Amino acid sequence: MTMLIRGGTLVSTDRTFIADILIDGGKIIAIDESDGSEIRNPDTGRRRTPPEVETIDASGKLIFPGGVDPHVHLDLPMFDTVSSDDHYSGTKAAAFGGTTTVLDFVSFDHPTLGESVEAWHQKAEKAAVDYSAHMNLTRFNEKIAAEIPYLLEMGISTLKVFTAYNGRLRLEDGNIFKALRVARENGMLVMLHAENGDVIDILVAEALAAGHTSPEWHAKTRPAWGAVESALRAFALAATADAPLYLVHMNTAGEVDMLKYGRERGLKVMGETCPQYLFFTEDDLRRPDGAKWICSPPMRSAADNARLSEGVADGTIQTIGTDHCPFFQDGTQPILYEGKMIAIPGKELGKDDFTKIPNGLPGVEDRLPVLWTSGVGSGKLTANQFVALTSTNPARIFGLYPRKGALLPGSDADIVIWDPHRKARHGVAQSHQRTDYNLYEGWELCGMPEKVFLRGQLIVDGDKWLGKAGMGEFLPRMPGAPVL
Ligand SMILES: [Zn+2]
Repeated sequence: MTMLIRGGTLVSTDRTFIADILIDGGKIIAIDESDGSEIRNPDTGRRRTPPEVETIDASGKLIFPGGVDPHVHLDLPMFDTVSSDDHYSGTKAAAFGGTTTVLDFVSFDHPTLGESVEAWHQKAEKAAVDYSAHMNLTRFNEKIAAEIPYLLEMGISTLKVFTAYNGRLRLEDGNIFKALRVARENGMLVMLHAENGDVIDILVAEALAAGHTSPEWHAKTRPAWGAVESALRAFALAATADAPLYLVHMNTAGEVDMLKYGRERGLKVMGETCPQYLFFTEDDLRRPDGAKWICSPPMRSAADNARLSEGVADGTIQTIGTDHCPFFQDGTQPILYEGKMIAIPGKELGKDDFTKIPNGLPGVEDRLPVLWTSGVGSGKLTANQFVALTSTNPARIFGLYPRKGALLPGSDADIVIWDPHRKARHGVAQSHQRTDYNLYEGWELCGMPEKVFLRGQLIVDGDKWLGKAGMGEFLPRMPGAPVL
């Protein structure tokens, strides 16, 4: 079906202009910025708007490429429960927030990487927006190393490693170094969760022995210095292996300093932060409902919030993801979701022991509206930077550009018509994330999606959900993506 989105203000990473967008077969086929009155054939210069074309008036609205969230955890088992958004409910929430592509993670739970990817596909196929995944490289030996290049045949070009979670997810430094070399040889990208697992294990054991069980001890036992030294350690390994490295969920000022240091020396290092690390602090964990803010790495200080915001604004940090991994605050109380009562065990599991509180927060739907209000609305970010951070940069870094992250002829017609003036008080009642709380409860937001298209299909129209489970497509990703 052919469709014309007429007269909207198109925002790319470097330009803002009024344009008409012609869509056919799920792709953008032409963009005309002449005068907003007609689409011309680029070869003949003649008007070529077919008479039967469906036209959507977007005048007075902004047009963004659909958001790309580089970091979500859907249907992730943790501590005898599971993250409360699965690949359907989480991608539906993403769409309501203007995000049309999500990158999840494959748990290395099966004997081989290939079998683990296969198991993930079974769970992911009900996604309502387009999706791919990074491979969690949580074990390493020569046999596994030999299998890594075959991930590319499965469309997976990224590996995530951890310097924390000893005995569970962590790789030793030597194995991270070897993984970086394999990645480099194959044009793949390694992503790092930076914390110091040894220090965390000692501090947690001491805290529990001393009878400290409240949520604030989650932050106290995961110190910021561990994130800083682990980031620099991994940058040094990447430099020695001459490989690119992407630092996920940056949460401390020191990581911004280390990233700046590495980039100034020409290292192929990049970074991501998440909205929660820009606004919340360890103090939030001391509230009576502090478990809501438990995620790993933890919230830090106001000075860290400020330095991360600065790093986002000055280009030290390339992307904003969410690390969306929601749990119910009280999983004994059901909520109504799509006409059914649903309760999934959540943060109450750790009411007597902070180490049993599932780690993670909702955010995939909140990302764009919260960042627009706080960043663009306050003048700290331009609309162009907003598009780069939330869509174009993640699409480029993760091998999806220009199919995703761009409004260009030939790109998928993943389009957000954004109303920069629409105001709303945000909160769990407005949210589609399948959990019983929202981190931004009561925030006054200005600017949100009005219509969201996935490959030319209208899936969100104001408050109406027009998408469905299974309409998302798996996105095979290419090796050799650029380092930004
Ligand atoms: Zn994560």
